[in-house]
Amino acid sequence: MWRYRKLLPVPDGPVRYPLPIGGTPLLPVPALRRTLGTPHLWIKDETRNPTASNKDRATALVIEDGLRRGMDTITTASTGNAAVATAFGAAGAGMRAVIFVSTGCRPDKLALMTQAGAHVFRVPAGYAAAVDLSRAAARSFGWLDRNTGANPYTIEAKKTVAFEVWEQLGRRLPDVMIVPVGDGPTLVALDKGFAELVSCGHAGRQPRLIGVQAESCQPLVRAWFGAPAGPAELDPTATVADGIAVVRPAIGDAVLDAVRRGGGAMVAVTDNALLSAVTTLAARAGVGAEPAGAAALAGLARAVECGLVDRSETTVLLVTGREVKAGGGPAGPGRVAVVEGLDEVERALAGAC
Ligand SMILES: *Cc1c(COP(=O)(O)O)cnc(C)c1O
Repeated sequence: MWRYRKLLPVPDGPVRYPLPIGGTPLLPVPALRRTLGTPHLWIKDETRNPTASNKDRATALVIEDGLRRGMDTITTASTGNAAVATAFGAAGAGMRAVIFVSTGCRPDKLALMTQAGAHVFRVPAGYAAAVDLSRAAARSFGWLDRNTGANPYTIEAKKTVAFEVWEQLGRRLPDVMIVPVGDGPTLVALDKGFAELVSCGHAGRQPRLIGVQAESCQPLVRAWFGAPAGPAELDPTATVADGIAVVRPAIGDAVLDAVRRGGGAMVAVTDNALLSAVTTLAARAGVGAEPAGAAALAGLARAVECGLVDRSETTVLLVTGREVKAGGGPAGPGRVAVVEGLDEVERALAGAC
């Protein structure tokens, strides 16, 4: 990722962040192309980052900035993957990580966080409350705030995906890029990266961006169609796509702007479509993905069906994450607590080793 550092907010000097980030492959997927009848389909495989999701890019840039400013603690809220990336990134960089997740966070992801030495706070009121607590803790205790969208470096880092796709296509841009959307930085960052390529004179026009959400948690698809979402469309616990199950996206308006400006669209997909996309990616592309990570493939089927994408177009699917599992022994005790307020956080940390 540091290959593009002239376009990143990183001053000169050696990069201190120790894990390799980005430079993920753009796969030509020949068998999948034959199956779908899409001769110019590509997969940008973000599962090849160190903790198997695109969250590693944002984590790396935020920690790099923190190391340069002498920060010793990083915090984030997360639906799971940002937290795993932060726990491992902080561990490698020698920082303390303090993570806030909803009590619905997947146990495998929790186990990875604690194994990497993070302090994990589970928040019963859900992800939005976890974001509020993490941000409040960052302000009160002077911690590095990695919260997605809130820290602009998360978007700066994720825009490098656009640069890589452009280079990997032989310095050309695709017609369409299809992207899972949770809080929004992944899609908004692609738009920013493509816009920078256009303004540097490297490309004529930006690709259309198609954002994908799960049917049971689709605030931005409903907003795109100008219709209020019902409760059954705003239930983060009802979908297998935990990585994109966000009821109040941090930068939802920016997502809708980016999609509109490029002539793209938003689509919703069912859990069955997500699960079958996971299987198809494994069986026809050799790519392992978690359901949120496979959403772009499910979104492609929907977009073709709706006449939003033609099968002959150069289309890139962003595969954002792979299923993860913690090996090894159990984490040390006292690393996970349920909290509702900042005072409990302070007490738990004072008592922890
Ligand atoms: C976070 C995440 C996304 C969505 O990213 P946003 O930037 O929050 O929109 C998609 N897929 C996976 C696997 C993720 O972890």
